[in-house]
Amino acid sequence: MPPRKSSPLDNVLGRLDDLDQQNLAILVQRLARERRLLETVFNTIREGILVIGREGVIDYANSAAAEMLGFMQKEVGRAVLWKRVPELARTLHLADDGGLRELSGISREVEISYPAARVLHVYIVPLNIEDPMPGAGEGTELRHAVILSDITEEKESARQIIESEKVQSIIDLSAGVAHELGNPLNSITIHLQLARRQMQRMEKGSRRDKVERALSVCADEVTRLDGIIKHFLEAVRPVEPDFADLDLISVLDESLEFLGQELADCGLTIDVELDSVVPIVMGDRGQVKQVFYNIIKNARDATPTGGIIRIRTSSDDQFVYVQIGDNGQGIDQNDMPKIFRPYFTTKKGGNGLGMMVVQRIMRAHGGRIGIDSRKGKGTVVTLQFPQKQRRVRMLGAGVDAEAPAL
Ligand code: ADP
Ligand code: MG
Repeated sequence: MPPRKSSPLDNVLGRLDDLDQQNLAILVQRLARERRLLETVFNTIREGILVIGREGVIDYANSAAAEMLGFMQKEVGRAVLWKRVPELARTLHLADDGGLRELSGISREVEISYPAARVLHVYIVPLNIEDPMPGAGEGTELRHAVILSDITEEKESARQIIESEKVQSIIDLSAGVAHELGNPLNSITIHLQLARRQMQRMEKGSRRDKVERALSVCADEVTRLDGIIKHFLEAVRPVEPDFADLDLISVLDESLEFLGQELADCGLTIDVELDSVVPIVMGDRGQVKQVFYNIIKNARDATPTGGIIRIRTSSDDQFVYVQIGDNGQGIDQNDMPKIFRPYFTTKKGGNGLGMMVVQRIMRAHGGRIGIDSRKGKGTVVTLQFPQKQRRVRMLGAGVDAEAPAL
């Protein structure tokens, strides 16, 4: 970390012992004013902001956070976040002593029922606050900032990415164009094949080699274009899931059978430990496979040769969890909130649509996705699928498939 520039306030704090009564009073007033200003700013923000200690004790909460989680300012300093939002604690894999592990970022969607039924997106990032007065007894316990966004309404709307009719009409138009591109592309593919056949009749030699290279570049580019169009159409034209009883183990097995060779070719070890039986979920086989592919492929892209991709399953009384972990490059703290945005990518050839599609499919399945990452160490993606009986209850209660299960 670059050395922090010391502010005029730091300079004064460094000479506290030299200050007389009057200057001290001025300093305190100035600090109080600054604090009021910051407090007003933080209390105006729509997002909930908390600062928590390693064990989840809430050290600070802005008004939005207190309102979202239903507690009073006077409880700050005593209330424990894990107790306020048990579902969050359940998905965090806390250390044995109840403490938060050191990660560069955590992203979760959680449902809360108190003080109101809501779905919150929770980001947890470590806070690196330098102690302005080292040795003053404050200690340097690792603290975290927790940012809460209320996504209840967003989740209730049938398509999260479509914010207005205007956006929708642009999407329809571009989807139409993308679709239309399919025909000329097919025609180019056929003519490339014809040209290749002609080429094979040419005499062997440098001219033929040149033509061959040119044709193969064209063919590769056509494949790439085809991929771009396919991904684009998948992203903007979500297909309703065709629900059936699903055994996630068999879906995982099939996905791995398909991707296994590719991972081995990249020099990656796959370490799979699946429960022999997991409860049945309701899902669209093709779409769930797509979720596994996208996440496993991201793990592959992030992990250098010799790395390991770990896949685990587990379940509790309501959900089935599938965890896909890698020991690759991890996700930068600043990138955590962007992962699900369309077209966000850090890869040269990336399209930035994979995680958006994953999130959309998981939501359509009444499920959730959580990400734990540590820069330079790796990433674990946790998929949470509601078990069939929970899902049947949800749908039976007349709740839309997109709505949170409460
Ligand atoms: P793409 O794979 O085309 O970049 P995605 O939507 O699948 O698009 O992923 C978006 C970004 O999220 C990636 O570019 C990468 O920065 C980050 N990401 C996703 N999964 C991982 C992972 N397992 N490890 C590191 N970074 C990841
Ligand atoms: Mg991807």
